[in-house]
Amino acid sequence: MKYSKYYIPTFRENPADAEIPSQAIALRGGYIKKIATGVYDYLPLGLRVIRKVERIIREEMNKKDAVEVLMPSMVPAELWQKSGRWFKYGKELLRIKDRAGRDFCYGPTHEEVIVDLVSDDLKSYKQLPINFYQIQNKFRDEIRPRFGLMRAREFSMKDAYSFHADEQSLDLTYKGMYEAYSNIFGRCGLNHRVVSADSGAIGGNSSQEFMIVAETGEDEILYCSSCDHAANIEKASTKVTNKSDDSLEVEKVHTPDIKAIEDVASFLNVGVEKTIKVVAYKYDKEVAPEKVQTKYAMVYIRGDYEVNDVKLINRLDALGIEPASEEEIISVFKTVPGFMGFSSKASDVQIIIDDSIIGITNAVIGANEKDYHIKNANVGRDYVIDDSLVADVKTVNVGDVCLSCFKGTYKKERGIEVGHIFKLGTKYSQSMNATFLDQQGKVQPFIMGCYGIGVGRTAMAAIEQYHDDNGPLWPISIAPFEVIVLPVNGNKEEQVKLADDIYSELLAKGIDVLYDDRDERLGVKLNDADLIGAPYRVIIGKRAIEGIVELSFRNGDEKVELTVEKVKQFLVEKIKG
Ligand code: ATP
Ligand code: MG
Repeated sequence: MKYSKYYIPTFRENPADAEIPSQAIALRGGYIKKIATGVYDYLPLGLRVIRKVERIIREEMNKKDAVEVLMPSMVPAELWQKSGRWFKYGKELLRIKDRAGRDFCYGPTHEEVIVDLVSDDLKSYKQLPINFYQIQNKFRDEIRPRFGLMRAREFSMKDAYSFHADEQSLDLTYKGMYEAYSNIFGRCGLNHRVVSADSGAIGGNSSQEFMIVAETGEDEILYCSSCDHAANIEKASTKVTNKSDDSLEVEKVHTPDIKAIEDVASFLNVGVEKTIKVVAYKYDKEVAPEKVQTKYAMVYIRGDYEVNDVKLINRLDALGIEPASEEEIISVFKTVPGFMGFSSKASDVQIIIDDSIIGITNAVIGANEKDYHIKNANVGRDYVIDDSLVADVKTVNVGDVCLSCFKGTYKKERGIEVGHIFKLGTKYSQSMNATFLDQQGKVQPFIMGCYGIGVGRTAMAAIEQYHDDNGPLWPISIAPFEVIVLPVNGNKEEQVKLADDIYSELLAKGIDVLYDDRDERLGVKLNDADLIGAPYRVIIGKRAIEGIVELSFRNGDEKVELTVEKVKQFLVEKIKG
């Protein structure tokens, strides 16, 4: 490709509203252009990266015998009504009407469509297992679109859906997808970690996310210092142990205007791990099809833990939660904000006891009375615990014991979720009545898996992981160009001649080479070359007359002077060898 014929609109400065490096670089370097919030053009450079990621994905999916299809973006509401998600998915689902007033949505994920796709034909266990995939634009009306393609509203996703006659078959395909994903992110040159995850709006029994480790990632990962267990913070669990002390006499103590649990603990001179925090919530629940009721819940949790919203939503089977207001704490919970305790008089409140308070002795808790707490509360004597209300709704703390090996402790890092694999079970086949005949001729619902990769997010995550102040340091497998050929002075015949020669030779060898043939100052060309981020750069300057050029590397300061023949040979060997 000749630069003069290409389209790379680069800018000198980072855009003012860019929040993370990959977003700044993708916009400044002419990879993408914003057209509306969360909606982007892929410019030629960005498209080249996207296509390379797609190619790696296709190759790895095909290797695992997944079959490519392409489903429509516009999906009739009936399919989503059948699965029950038309209502449940909420505002992230972009709903549209056609000219006759019929409801459609722009697909955010395609479980319903794939179930419909196979419904007339896939009828026998003999046709199973089968795994379909597509690479397609999705639309999700994200509440907070941000970070460019990282959290866009319209974005490219590879989604795959597998159908099985039994769990063992699902396990095999799931394992195959795990391997394919490891290969995909590995081939993209990305340092990644697999974590166990919450299944969210997709549903199902278990899932794992592929995370690109990066400080700017939106997800928090807890990983074990000793074994290879890692989990999304929404999923991570631990075992909390409480030191058992001799039971002391219960007392009501004056804690004037002291509400925050840390303040209460220090005022009473006890450790925060000896306190019980009570947190009040309001939540929406679908009590009958498409009928939502506002409900209330209170969580008892050890003072040094926080309630995890996702875990609580799952436990309550809620559509959404929010903290109850002070007025609600008084009128619904019938207690006092800041001093909530055990014997709440509220009748319509769902109580949840986080397992962190099991075994706690001589605990401090609010007295349900302004400016008072209870000290030395002990289970059995001062309160009872109904086992059916015990749950794990806490956010694991750094340093907590790993629930997998019980030896190591959790550490924390941030990550970008680029892939997610799910064992769906029969969630969709049951609700949509998608069945096959098993070996005994019995009608069974399909057992399903689904597997997603954010294509644009993967490309952006690569920039996030590999960049400097001047631009991206692309892993060669997904770099928009592998080599840039750059004559210093386009008016010098000997430079142009060498550049032409190197360019056409590399091109003929199938190398992705960009020839900067523009009549621009060297500084401009070098800045643009940094933004394009090709791993190799051939600069043709003064020594062209001797047939000598300079080879440099985007990821380091090293430069070497080589003859034209040597440089061609080196690049062909490195890239194609
Ligand atoms: P997140 O928690 O980041 O919202 P998700 O759990 O909603 O992600 P999935 O439904 O599992 O995502 O979608 C599969 C993949 O699609 C994700 O792993 C991610 O790489 C990508 N993806 C999801 N939402 C977006 C988005 N708004 N913009 C770009 N890529 C996305
Ligand atoms: Mg999401």
